[in-house]
Amino acid sequence: MTKRRIHLLALGGTIATQPGEHGMKHGLDGDDLVRMVPGLDAVADVQARTVARTGSSNLTLDAVYALAAHIEAMVQQGACDGVVVTQGTDTLEETAFLLDLLLDVDIPVVMTAAMRNPALASADGPGNVLAAVRVAATPWATARRVGVLVAMLDHAHAALEVAKTQTSRLDAFHSPSAGPVATLAETRVVPLMQPVRDWKAVVSAIVGASPASRFAGAAPVALLWLGLGEHGALLDALLDGPRHLGYGGVVVGAMGGGHVPEPMVARLTMLAAQLPVVVASRTGGGPLLRHTYEGSGSEIALRAAGLIYAGRLPPLKARLLLDLLLRAGADRAAIAAAFDSTG
Ligand code: ASP
Repeated sequence: MTKRRIHLLALGGTIATQPGEHGMKHGLDGDDLVRMVPGLDAVADVQARTVARTGSSNLTLDAVYALAAHIEAMVQQGACDGVVVTQGTDTLEETAFLLDLLLDVDIPVVMTAAMRNPALASADGPGNVLAAVRVAATPWATARRVGVLVAMLDHAHAALEVAKTQTSRLDAFHSPSAGPVATLAETRVVPLMQPVRDWKAVVSAIVGASPASRFAGAAPVALLWLGLGEHGALLDALLDGPRHLGYGGVVVGAMGGGHVPEPMVARLTMLAAQLPVVVASRTGGGPLLRHTYEGSGSEIALRAAGLIYAGRLPPLKARLLLDLLLRAGADRAAIAAAFDSTG
């Protein structure tokens, strides 16, 4: 049987570091990553390209839009049967979800990374690249069917579900609400479930064809994480600053099912009259409430006041969807419909 052609696009991260003078430094390229994996050529015909050599906290949204446009172009040319993207773990759950929002392709797109660098005894990079290539070479795993996947520690996770939940342990990646979509055993990729993708169809209908090409000129989305006793005076800067300090929208990492401290409500309501303000849950799992609690700061009151509820997207992912919707020129009703479709 002919081997499947997998393109590996390397962006940097711990997986691609090497010892420097004072600590690990970025340096390995895509070909180095391929060479690190014994037996990879038996699994697939892997071609590597180095896109960046940086920590994932330095990646930008525009860089991910450009990456998505590059992947779309490769697919249009029929250049490969699957794509693997390597990067750092710190922002992996965000880049994976953004690529999932942007791409509508019939080949697998699988991201991976490493928690332990190549100089450590338990470096996980080579095993994760092997797992990612195996998943990317599996026809079941097309992005149109399961979305962009994240392969870490012999599990494949859906981009919407996955989160980094540990700073340094190998088992840092989990899908808290749904579990992984596939597991790897011996040489097999074993599907466990089929992710629900209805939300993707709703978003695609709003943002149109090839959202990946919209990589210029968005106003960034601010993210405000709420803690006990927050009064919200920071919002005054957004309310009073010139052009809302350049922000096009705001995501609030709210308590529980979508609640905020009462002292914030007046400012949030004023802001929501001027900009899209999206409430997401800081719990990181579960759909927001819609009609359970009444009273100031409750979901019933805030929704009636014009705040948009993020469905089941956690704050980091709600921010990326709002950014895309703003780039696409979506109005308030379309923004609310897109978030509602997630849960
Ligand atoms: N700081 C690194 C990064 O995200 C961490 C990692 O790769 O695991 O680029």
